Amino acid sequence: GGPRLLYALNKSHGLASVTTINRHNKIPQLLPSIASPSAEDASTNITSFFNPEIKPPPSIPHGETLPGNVVIVDRVAINEKCQYCSRRNCILGLCREHADAVDLQVNSLESVEAVQKALDLPKDSPGHVCYGKDATVLAIAPYTRADHYTPVPIIVSPSCKSEKGDMLAKWLKIVVAAWQRHKYGECLNGPLWAIATDGESTFRLAKFLLYMTEQVAPDSDLGKILHPLLGLNCWTGEHGLVGTCDPKHIIKR
Ligand SMILES: [Zn+2]
Repeated sequence: GGPRLLYALNKSHGLASVTTINRHNKIPQLLPSIASPSAEDASTNITSFFNPEIKPPPSIPHGETLPGNVVIVDRVAINEKCQYCSRRNCILGLCREHADAVDLQVNSLESVEAVQKALDLPKDSPGHVCYGKDATVLAIAPYTRADHYTPVPIIVSPSCKSEKGDMLAKWLKIVVAAWQRHKYGECLNGPLWAIATDGESTFRLAKFLLYMTEQVAPDSDLGKILHPLLGLNCWTGEHGLVGTCDPKHIIKR
């Protein structure tokens, strides 16, 4: 996929080339996180992708509320190498777990060599950093709608897979809060209802820590329906958010 596929289709079927598309359309760029994903990272990407000029918000029929969204989290393979980010004048591609151990700003040749030195340090020694082995991608997709179905990424962050569930939970909470606060987030595109991951143990622990913290109030309208259902898990996280598995992973099991 991506630019290479478009290049092939441009040659074989005469589709518009990458340069032509770039000239006529503003294509939003996903900003990768340098260390642990922050509210600023999420906010920048929400601004790029959910700007109403780029992605018109869902229309709401009179009297109805905005549709809820699911946060989809999964890992994708990446090349284990560094890259220069001209937008932020820094080095990308190190894992979020260890990136804080070194200054990634490119201010001189020495600053680049310092990163190289930290990469060469033996594993588990202080100051060691590593390449991201894969990237965690967090995307937002609406429930129950066919017109705005496509998931939209708001975080991509390299990891060396040494992250524990509580560390993951910490930044997931920050990103969810950034969506709830952003002017193109919850108020324009709807609230978050669930967070879906595969069954990996880190994801499971994070979901347990975040989304099993409070019960649906038994005397609320919803609680009156749910609580009499024997065996139903009525625990949720803040704002009624629930942790779930994406259906593909349930079917695989
Ligand atoms: Zn690492």
